[in-house]
Amino acid sequence: MVDTHCPYCSLQCGMTLARKGPALEVQPRPQRNAHSPDDEGALCRKGWTAGGLRGSRERLTTPLVRDRASGEWSAVDWDEALDLVASRLAAIRVAHGADANAVFGGGGLTNEKAYLLGKLARVALGTAMIDYNGRWCMSSAASAGNQAFGIDRGLPFPLADVEQADVVVLVGSNLAETMPPAARHLDRLRSRGGRVVVVDPRRTPTAERADVFVQPVPGTDLALALGLLHLVDAAGAVDEEYVASRTSGFETVRSTAAAWWPERVERVTGVGAGELRSLATLLTSSRRVVVLTARGAEQHADGTATVLAWINLALALGLPGRPYAGYGCLTGQGNGQGGREHGQKADQLPGYRMIDDPVAREHVAAVWGVPPASLPGKGVSAYELLSALGTPDGPRSLLVFGSNPVVSAPRATAVTERLEALDLLVVCDLVMSETAALADVVLPVTQWAEETGTMTNLEGRVILRQQAVTPPAGVRSDLEVIAGLANRLGAPSAWPTDPEEVFTELRAASAGGRADYSGISYDRIRDEGGLFWPCPTTADGVEHPGTPRMFADSFAATDGRARFVPVSYDGPAEPLDDAFDVHLTTGRVLAQYQSGAQTRRIRELPDTGPFVELHPLLAARIGVEDGRPVTVTTRRGALTAPARVVGSIRSDTVFVPFHWVGANRLTSDALDPVSGMPEFKVCACRVRPAGEV
Ligand code: SF4
Repeated sequence: MVDTHCPYCSLQCGMTLARKGPALEVQPRPQRNAHSPDDEGALCRKGWTAGGLRGSRERLTTPLVRDRASGEWSAVDWDEALDLVASRLAAIRVAHGADANAVFGGGGLTNEKAYLLGKLARVALGTAMIDYNGRWCMSSAASAGNQAFGIDRGLPFPLADVEQADVVVLVGSNLAETMPPAARHLDRLRSRGGRVVVVDPRRTPTAERADVFVQPVPGTDLALALGLLHLVDAAGAVDEEYVASRTSGFETVRSTAAAWWPERVERVTGVGAGELRSLATLLTSSRRVVVLTARGAEQHADGTATVLAWINLALALGLPGRPYAGYGCLTGQGNGQGGREHGQKADQLPGYRMIDDPVAREHVAAVWGVPPASLPGKGVSAYELLSALGTPDGPRSLLVFGSNPVVSAPRATAVTERLEALDLLVVCDLVMSETAALADVVLPVTQWAEETGTMTNLEGRVILRQQAVTPPAGVRSDLEVIAGLANRLGAPSAWPTDPEEVFTELRAASAGGRADYSGISYDRIRDEGGLFWPCPTTADGVEHPGTPRMFADSFAATDGRARFVPVSYDGPAEPLDDAFDVHLTTGRVLAQYQSGAQTRRIRELPDTGPFVELHPLLAARIGVEDGRPVTVTTRRGALTAPARVVGSIRSDTVFVPFHWVGANRLTSDALDPVSGMPEFKVCACRVRPAGEV
């Protein structure tokens, strides 16, 4: 029996694994942590069935090389595969320069993998062209947190704190489906008499649990937040003492919100002025209010501004830093938090240091044993990187770790064409994903139960996944792949493959940074059940307890104050018109995870394929019945899938889940100018019965 954590979402539920013949038996395990009483042990169906990939016939167990002319795959041994990849990377660098090689990581990689991948790019390849799929997950909340609080930790308090709040406002989060055990916190809050508010264009299972459900037009959350701030101010409910002593910049934000009276908000958002006034009254009459955003608010071309608008509201109410109150982001991917802290982002070095900061470069270069000047500068965000592949000045090769952009990238058809234009595509994966199927070389790697490594969950709590079983013969860890390539490329520095050794190096690289892990060790995690960063090394040798709750006394900016940041509402990048007259939004379903590369291969999980959810009024207008095929068309492509006619969605909106090829062939590549987040959550579409234009 081995204690570990789920391979999927950012809740990182504790589980115990035992071998049962060729299979893995999964049991829920309470998470022990004095600061996080999330300790009952619970899993959703994805967690219960997570052992299903073990022993799958689809599991890759040997490196594969594809002949481009014939399309045939050949099995090769590891030395041949790594020699081939390293020699091709070296040749591309000689012919086209260091930035001609690119790296694409993932928010599901362990901290150790994310760290070593960033080092591979900067030290072994010398390329600035690295980014990762977490850019598409929570990057807007990250950039907003950095601007407002001077630091980005998704939840600056343990998730269980929400149980003690008076009101929780969930903006664009369907946690009852995406991370079901977390919904228990809402149930307990309500059993104490607290209220749950859900803001979502769909009446989701989370909205079904809410006391107040607000159903705005997709892409208008920013205007809603401005309208609430207007009403809070008009009611004289701004916490003036808090604003004066703990923040700066309120007056400009106050004047911006003044223009968002309820009737104007109603016209833009579709939320009635009366509803808005009732919600504002609920907020101003409650002391402990928690505002939580997720992808629904964040995956927009104005996602950073939208999150800032909700943070401005929280600051005006004096919430951040108050016990059992504040603002937080519910991160999505398993290591969505840690994945953005250790250097696989285009603009960052380990410890959440900015790559253009000379002090940061000096510190990290010293840990790596290389001159600071040898480190490349800032690269470009994930979609910008993918859309440059194979262009005359763009990268000629791409190494992909823990990602499946053929399914998950916006405007996926165009991204697929860019992948096909490369001289070299190398994919590390467990199975032949849709992206791996396009590769020149596929390297089979270990999965969660077969390896050890740390993850940082949505609370900023660093936990340890422990190896429970030996990997199948022929499979290597991502760390071994990275080290194997770095050594073949003649890279300076050490390239450990033992996860604990890598973590020791990561701790040194993070020391003094915003995400300081230097006081965290594998032994401490085992003993204490997880530690919240920042957890620095102390001068007196006494172990730092970690930081479960932040901002009680000061924020992370040098003056200790939070910033109000002015924002304006411009609306979605693609407004409706006569040709495309319905909003398309995308999201997840309970039984599937991200691009579905793993969960679609687990037999116990229903694999429905894509579907189109639409309101009965819209179905009647276009003449389609429940279950019949319907075609959704955007300016980028079309998808035909069965209609699901439901009363829970707005009548001007359709929903398509993104776990299968199709949804992201429709989505927009309009990017947030600050975070690089694409506008996955809204674009304009046309809906017709299949066969009609
Ligand atoms: Fe795994 Fe998330 Fe489900 Fe927990 S909620 S079992 S972490 S997928």
